[in-house]
Amino acid sequence: MKIPFFQSIRQYTAIKKEIQKAINRVLDSGWYVLGSEGKHFEQVFAKTMNSPFGIGVNSGTDALKIALRSLGVTEGDEVITVANTAVPTVSAIRETGAMPVFVDIDQYYTLDVTKLECAITSKTKVIIPVHLYGGVCDMKVIMKIARRHKLKVIEDCAQSTGATYHKKITGSWGDMSCFSFYPTKNLGALGDGGMIVTSHKKLDQTCKMLRMYGMEKGYYSKTDGYNSRLDEIQAAILTTKLPHLPEWNARRQEIASLYRAGITNPHIILPETRPGSTHVFHLFVIRTTHRQKLMEYLALHGIGCGIHYPYPIPEQSGYAYLKNQSKNLGVTKQVSKEILSLPIFPELKNSEISYIIKTLNNFSV
Ligand SMILES: *Cc1c(COP(=O)(O)O)cnc(C)c1O
Repeated sequence: MKIPFFQSIRQYTAIKKEIQKAINRVLDSGWYVLGSEGKHFEQVFAKTMNSPFGIGVNSGTDALKIALRSLGVTEGDEVITVANTAVPTVSAIRETGAMPVFVDIDQYYTLDVTKLECAITSKTKVIIPVHLYGGVCDMKVIMKIARRHKLKVIEDCAQSTGATYHKKITGSWGDMSCFSFYPTKNLGALGDGGMIVTSHKKLDQTCKMLRMYGMEKGYYSKTDGYNSRLDEIQAAILTTKLPHLPEWNARRQEIASLYRAGITNPHIILPETRPGSTHVFHLFVIRTTHRQKLMEYLALHGIGCGIHYPYPIPEQSGYAYLKNQSKNLGVTKQVSKEILSLPIFPELKNSEISYIIKTLNNFSV
């Protein structure tokens, strides 16, 4: 058997007719950027995320960059986040000129709230908690600390679309939140895309200006802006896909339960879910001290896997200037050597899941 880590064609094939109908609707409309499709998707997506405003942009990275800019983040400021995230969380901070400050992680692979307060300085402007792998940060405590220090919070929801904490959906806890529609994400476009959601009208207006060359009105730029828009074809595709999100997330959760019940190999540590949260399993990340050997073994048995992420940000040469922060990141560094992501996309077949479980249980060192 050969099982890919992820395969987008399976989802496309399942809903091909709906997708093609959506694309044709846009083609026939003759309007391709910033039109009714985008506006409609912003509204329905924001509503699903329990927020009044949505701003469609070109990517999750741009969503973070524009959200930070809308809050006035600039050179000399500090933004707190984690070092085990996808690089774009950090590159977006750097694009504003601000400096990332890393906090170590807890046993759920998200920001360790007990270490948050000592990372705050007079330069801190924003905290970006990352709901990594589809698991949720301790937003109750993060919001309390942020309010006490008058800091803004931008949730990085790129991997957590649909996850909740104490029944409140991720993306509705912070001042703003950012989503990615990169094809592998829980809600994926057929190309790049991103969205900012917020409940602040003023921030909505600023973000809409920033994504369109900083224009306040026709051909009048109030500030340095960008060209970063969610195009009409992607918006139409995402409108078609959005109603499927609950069933897709439920399937991811079902696969996670099957893995949890089936994997009994003592060399493998299974992921924990934060109490009070619903995890949407963008990734199913196990840990093992025999990672290299296990990866070779899985490859030999035709099972795709991945590492998210193998190098903490300050350990990458592009971010060598942050290397002095490495000493505070003991858990992050240890975990990065042991994590391994198993296939968990909704279209995975039960026979494939059984084969993966059986193969993992037969692994010996
Ligand atoms: C994917 C991702 C992003 C960036 O999204 P793009 O759409 O690829 O720019 C940001 N943060 C996290 C945690 C991600 O997984």
